Amino acid sequence: MGTILLYYKYVDIEYPIAIQKWQRELCTTLGLTGRIIIAHEGINGTVGGTDEATAAYVQAMTEHPLFGGIDFKTAPGGSHAFPKMKIFVKNEIVNLGIDPSQLTVKDGGEHLTPEQVHELLTNPPADLVILDTRNNYESAVGTFAGSITPDIRYFRQLPGYIDENVDQFKDKTVLMHCTGGVRCERATGYLNQKQVAKKVYQIAGGIHRYIEQYPDGFFRGKNYVFDQRITVAANSDILGSCLHCKTPSDEYFNCLNALCNKHFTSCASCIDSFQKSCSARCQSMLHEKKAPERIPLQKI
Ligand SMILES: [Zn+2]
Ligand SMILES: [Zn+2]
Repeated sequence: MGTILLYYKYVDIEYPIAIQKWQRELCTTLGLTGRIIIAHEGINGTVGGTDEATAAYVQAMTEHPLFGGIDFKTAPGGSHAFPKMKIFVKNEIVNLGIDPSQLTVKDGGEHLTPEQVHELLTNPPADLVILDTRNNYESAVGTFAGSITPDIRYFRQLPGYIDENVDQFKDKTVLMHCTGGVRCERATGYLNQKQVAKKVYQIAGGIHRYIEQYPDGFFRGKNYVFDQRITVAANSDILGSCLHCKTPSDEYFNCLNALCNKHFTSCASCIDSFQKSCSARCQSMLHEKKAPERIPLQKI
């Protein structure tokens, strides 16, 4: 067993390609796997490896003039949690679809510590609105009690959701939340730019840091994560339901039909009777060999 590191930092990076080259060498030397995105606006990474390798990675980052002061979140795991190392240079470190010149973290909402969030939710103001900025398949298995959960498949659909539902936030105190905090940095800024909400807050370190301190607090169910674990239980509540029979379940599967590959929750008995597919249609496509079977991720 090793470690998975989750981190991000918004910082001006003049030469992303040079940072990409350095990261590639560093990660190769240390035998790390995962995914790192670099942009002029910053860096966002999830990397897995041995305890020693991830500690060396943290040290190399801390010593770099641009990457000091990062809040590295850790989880049990290792290099087997990801198929390989992917390092991209993109326009944004999370894809909100808004040019960083139009919206920066400086526009973002005020950060609350997990303690402050817990206090806010223990004694909520009458005008409090909680907004989950994550995708529908993430909020389906866990979210803050009373949170709005937009039915979006991609983060870049969130601005459209906010535009269409802007009245929902008029004169409200809004608490926004996501997995580790990176999405809310600019999503809170997007809402702030609308100039409708009374106050916009985000959680420093996101759901990850909140449930570390308050596993049985206001976040119920499981935190969806982007590694082989898929979800991390905060408490024993089951919020998700089987796609087929609607009984409570928050275990994820990808449809065996490679042309479909739908990501869904199912109970054990339905996943058996539908032969690992999401629908009778996908099941019959596979049966009649009209679609190839998805190659499962290798579990090491
Ligand atoms: Zn079922
Ligand atoms: Zn399917």
